[in-house]
Amino acid sequence: MRDNGRILLAHGAGGRLTHELIESLFLRRFENKSLAALDDSAEIALPDSDPARAARIAFTTDGYVVQPIEFPGGDIGRIAVCGTVNDLAMLGARPLGLSAAMILEEGLEREILDRIVGSMAAAAREAKVDLVTGDTKVVERGAATRMYIVTSGVGLIPPGVSLSGRNARPGDAVLVSGTLGDHGVTVMNAREGLGFEGDLRSDAAPLNGMVENMLSETDGVHTLRDLTRGGLGTALNEIAGASGIRIDIDEAAIPVRSSVQAGCQMLGIDPLYVANEGKLVAFVEDRCAHAVLTAMRSHPLGRDAVRIGTVSAGEPSVVVHTPIGGARRLLMLDGDPLPRIC
Ligand code: MG
Repeated sequence: MRDNGRILLAHGAGGRLTHELIESLFLRRFENKSLAALDDSAEIALPDSDPARAARIAFTTDGYVVQPIEFPGGDIGRIAVCGTVNDLAMLGARPLGLSAAMILEEGLEREILDRIVGSMAAAAREAKVDLVTGDTKVVERGAATRMYIVTSGVGLIPPGVSLSGRNARPGDAVLVSGTLGDHGVTVMNAREGLGFEGDLRSDAAPLNGMVENMLSETDGVHTLRDLTRGGLGTALNEIAGASGIRIDIDEAAIPVRSSVQAGCQMLGIDPLYVANEGKLVAFVEDRCAHAVLTAMRSHPLGRDAVRIGTVSAGEPSVVVHTPIGGARRLLMLDGDPLPRIC
């Protein structure tokens, strides 16, 4: 896909064009070590007379433009809180406080805004964090679709915890915390009226509680990433590139609900590229895989956690092994099959 010098929807999809924009523009202009790591949050060491003992914070920000603003299993407020808490949790950080900037379209019903703010407060209680500062702007009718939210978060990284997309190693087990694609297909169904009934619900949820359980079990967790835009396929490619590893995945082991599979078939998309708002992938030392899986499964948000693959040394790549014995290279998401789902 070529952009002819203009921004396309695909630049916001989290896939190949988003990466191209980040690397060619943002990284070049804002050159610094924290940003260059390209993890879910930036790690910042606080000034200390002894740098080895310095406390480390995680800091992150996200914009939310999902349409519609309410859908089964969540709304724009819930994913704004969960998404920011989850980006902090992917560095192992405990959230200290969140901010929210609300950009509202003139004419938005007070009742709807009240419902969404209530949902944000409920999600913050689930994550055991407070929303401590914010901002409100209103734009003319038509200059925004209903409302957008920008959230930021700060968290404290416990001593000894060091997680990054660069830390995966040959021999690591690859684990996912549950079924994939629920959020993206639910939002598309709600927006486009695809007519799927049944159990389609967004998985939006704060993962910090489950991550704390995982990290208290072992020191063998190397990398965590939440599977938002671009889905599992894009996250695995990012980690393969950042860590310089080959990842082999067993397609039959990847959990996907039948309703999500049916939705993906109708939309002509691969569930491996569909966004989630309450799922993560973990790279852990093989000797710890069982203990980490047990910790995940003992938490309500990780009941369906499974091992889906293994890391080896080799050219950075992601290879999916199909149930009939074939193998295909899984690339980063190209284009934007599901715009504005978060
Ligand atoms: Mg993330």
